[in-house]
Amino acid sequence: MNKKETFDLLDFLNEVFKGNHDYAEEMHAKLKKHVEGQDPVTTTISCCDSRVKQEAMWKNEEIGAEFTRGTIGNTVLEYNHRGETTISGDIDYIPKHSETPTVAAVIGHTGCGAVTATYETLEAIQKHKDLQKTDINHTDLQKYNGETKGINTKIRLLLESGLKQDYNQIKGKSNKQEEIDKLVERNVDNQIKELINRTHYTDTEFIGLVFDLDGIYGGKEGQLYLTNYCGEKQLQKLKQEAANHKAIKAKRIS
Ligand SMILES: [Zn+2]
Repeated sequence: MNKKETFDLLDFLNEVFKGNHDYAEEMHAKLKKHVEGQDPVTTTISCCDSRVKQEAMWKNEEIGAEFTRGTIGNTVLEYNHRGETTISGDIDYIPKHSETPTVAAVIGHTGCGAVTATYETLEAIQKHKDLQKTDINHTDLQKYNGETKGINTKIRLLLESGLKQDYNQIKGKSNKQEEIDKLVERNVDNQIKELINRTHYTDTEFIGLVFDLDGIYGGKEGQLYLTNYCGEKQLQKLKQEAANHKAIKAKRIS
């Protein structure tokens, strides 16, 4: 580390502590009320993208309101010690330990880098061989996309949940950005499908949302859309479900 980097890091840390001082001043009395424990209603599963604030997007900054999982591509899966896929403990935790009804919300976002990387990886593979016949599990993704093992682990999880089939269905019908944003929506569906198929929680509902970063759904940047309601993804049915709740915006683009 050279001198300039050291200086920058300390400068950064100083800002961290200045900010934390103000935070503790403002929040310490509120936090005191929560020291006994937590019982949040919501578990959110959102991307790590710095523009997607999972604890702010519906004014949900309240302490103890949410259990948050941030992971690129908002996947609900992880690989366990045997190399098998499993629902993440981040998601099991609240449904298993709460005695009240809970909700798990999968939140995708338009312009997602993880979905874009998956799309581009499939494009690159397709240039060299027949994608339909390619066994992704036995394909060295790094050869096609140059990404790290860690990033390719995430890409594999998105493919495992069905994004290759979605890519095949969507490819060639609109421009690249629209195709990627459609895959974002499909990826949310895939995660809800995984939750429905693989979990046995007794009192937890699953909803799929898309945070529209680039306005492709036709509203403001930052608008949230309901795209999946407990596994239901037909737009007409989503609208019927939401008919008596005026604030809910149900919409789909895929
Ligand atoms: Zn993302």
